[in-house]
Amino acid sequence: MLGSALILSGPSGSGKSTLIRELVEDIGPYYFSISTTTRLPRVGEENGIDYYFVEKTLFEEDIAQGYFLEHAKVHDNYYGTSLRPVLEALEQGKLVIFDVDVQGHESIKKRLGTIATSVFVATPSFEVLEERLYARQTDTNEVIQKRLNMAVTEMERIDEFDYIIINDALDTAIAQLKAVGIAAKLKKDAQSIASFKAVWKGK
Ligand code: ADP
Ligand code: 5GP
Repeated sequence: MLGSALILSGPSGSGKSTLIRELVEDIGPYYFSISTTTRLPRVGEENGIDYYFVEKTLFEEDIAQGYFLEHAKVHDNYYGTSLRPVLEALEQGKLVIFDVDVQGHESIKKRLGTIATSVFVATPSFEVLEERLYARQTDTNEVIQKRLNMAVTEMERIDEFDYIIINDALDTAIAQLKAVGIAAKLKKDAQSIASFKAVWKGK
């Protein structure tokens, strides 16, 4: 059986990383798609765990080589999803989890089709997002302002998603994402369904 995909998007600071950390505790076999970016690592972030951090020239070479499933420019930096590890994880029947912006969501959904389930993570309000970005203490005021401006644009595309999680009380949001994660794993494409039917009949 092929695996499935779960795509998370939402403003920077809405809580995607926090929620994904909780989801993977008990979701079963999964692969978190580690993106490649040209932005600098934040304090505590590690190369090969949070992102692959690369120079702009290398990123542009990788685009030319067709290495990415999708890539986008977000807040003046490049971000991209490598194709090969995603395909390998799907072949192994894993749940592939993506944390990408709204452009990435659109591209991945087009490429992966029915096996993809998407969730938009939002804060209850703009003010809460602002508070959380400042409280996170990982970005300069200028970067936070850019992220807030971008958030307004991203919120415009909320209706493109299968599910919306308003991350107010963290425990509730975690439970909601776990429910969506289980539903995402149950979604299969036509090829998987056909092979299951054949196996079921013993053919
Ligand atoms: P993202 O990955 O979407 O950029 P993070 O997971 O880094 O967001 O969360 C942004 C900040 O908000 C972090 O400091 C995190 O600890 C905090 N946070 C996440 N969810 C909640 C919540 N429900 N209530 C309060 N703070 C939260
Ligand atoms: P951050 O700099 O806060 O880690 O991420 C900024 C934005 O880039 C977030 O909205 C995040 O979801 C998005 N992002 C991270 N990786 C990728 C990727 O591989 N592709 C795309 N399109 N967006 C990404």
